Amino acid sequence: MKMKASQKLETTALTQSAMKAYYETARNARSRGRKVAWSTVMMPTEILLAADIDVVFPENHSATCGAKGLGAELCELAEDAGLSQETCSYARCDLGVRHGGMSPWGGLPIPDIVFCATSSCTTVMKWFEDIARHYGCELAIVDMPYNFSGEITAHSEQYIVSQLEECIGQIETLTGKTFNYERLTQIMELSHTAHDYWRKCLELGAVKPSPITMTDILVNMGPIVCLRGTQEAVNIYESLHEEIAQRVRIGYVAAGTERFRLVWDGIPFWFALGSVVRRLSELGAVLVGATYFYHWVREVDPADPLRSMGRAYCTAITMNQSVAHKIEKIGMLLKLYQADGLIIHSNRSCKSDSLGALDLHRDVEKQFGVSVLMLDGDHTDSRAVSDAAVQTRMEAFIEGLEQKRFGRLRLVDKLSVQ
Ligand code: SF4
Repeated sequence: MKMKASQKLETTALTQSAMKAYYETARNARSRGRKVAWSTVMMPTEILLAADIDVVFPENHSATCGAKGLGAELCELAEDAGLSQETCSYARCDLGVRHGGMSPWGGLPIPDIVFCATSSCTTVMKWFEDIARHYGCELAIVDMPYNFSGEITAHSEQYIVSQLEECIGQIETLTGKTFNYERLTQIMELSHTAHDYWRKCLELGAVKPSPITMTDILVNMGPIVCLRGTQEAVNIYESLHEEIAQRVRIGYVAAGTERFRLVWDGIPFWFALGSVVRRLSELGAVLVGATYFYHWVREVDPADPLRSMGRAYCTAITMNQSVAHKIEKIGMLLKLYQADGLIIHSNRSCKSDSLGALDLHRDVEKQFGVSVLMLDGDHTDSRAVSDAAVQTRMEAFIEGLEQKRFGRLRLVDKLSVQ
């Protein structure tokens, strides 16, 4: 008999305390004589760690603000300061905090330098340019070439490597020290191991019934974003992997009745994560995987750090790739997770992630024969999401899955007798 889950993963407590300590440590960087960089999450920040620079990520900070329910208020502050509602809500949250809004971590430490890689979108260029101007510090940009075919050319690889070498020059000027390539190799080894455990954790979601839900992974995502390249991240993901593997061994079921298995495409609604997962679970559906998680499945090679980072940061991130290649990746995940359906988040203020959503909807249904639901929403601005509409559309979607599988309206029957 399968056991039903009733407890949180214990690793989540480790993750939470590591993230709290990470933000506190960064805020005190200056008192420890360390420089601070602000960086996009898709930047190969292992080069900054190798130079003993503390790195913080405004996107992660904004996501946390969103998860704590501060998104709408911070976005309004940014709009009062002149930003359009169409601008990425991560950028608006960041500007909102810089204009005096609340932050769960008391804000970010003032940067000495700002790093921006364009793997995810071009919005970040204007956003990080504004940050650099605001604090009067230098801006380093890594232009990541668009990846049309899924493969990266030698020319593109070299293009990224030469930009990273330029970044290393800027780091040397900032720190006044010669860059330590041996240290970079050590950091890359830790980064490689953490990424590997992270991938293995995600893959355990393929077990039927699933030992984890999307929430289990999302609440443990902070360290792979902010602490990759550290021993702490390795320890956390080793522990997470062992804990999920133990769940598999004892037949632990994460989401009660698992009648339908779903994959999520896009950034989650950070402010409504729990309610979406819970409602789906009540309807007998479990989110077992997400395309978003795979942006952090990166093959980095400690023996060839710059080139392998160039390759990894260009191929892992679907926002940097053609719709055709994204569909291929989704197909692989649907197969891996034996999924019945896909939920696409059509994200109002992240154009990059929502580009081609209608094509994706049509082609995924046609090519893989699974049902697809598109939900309008936003990653951080809760004003852009109608809770009632989301609930109604999810219920209708599950009803459709019921019909597809059983040829009759079992859910409606069930609801009508309640
Ligand atoms: S990819 Fe989307 S969410 Fe991320 S910074 Fe760009 S617009 Fe914002």
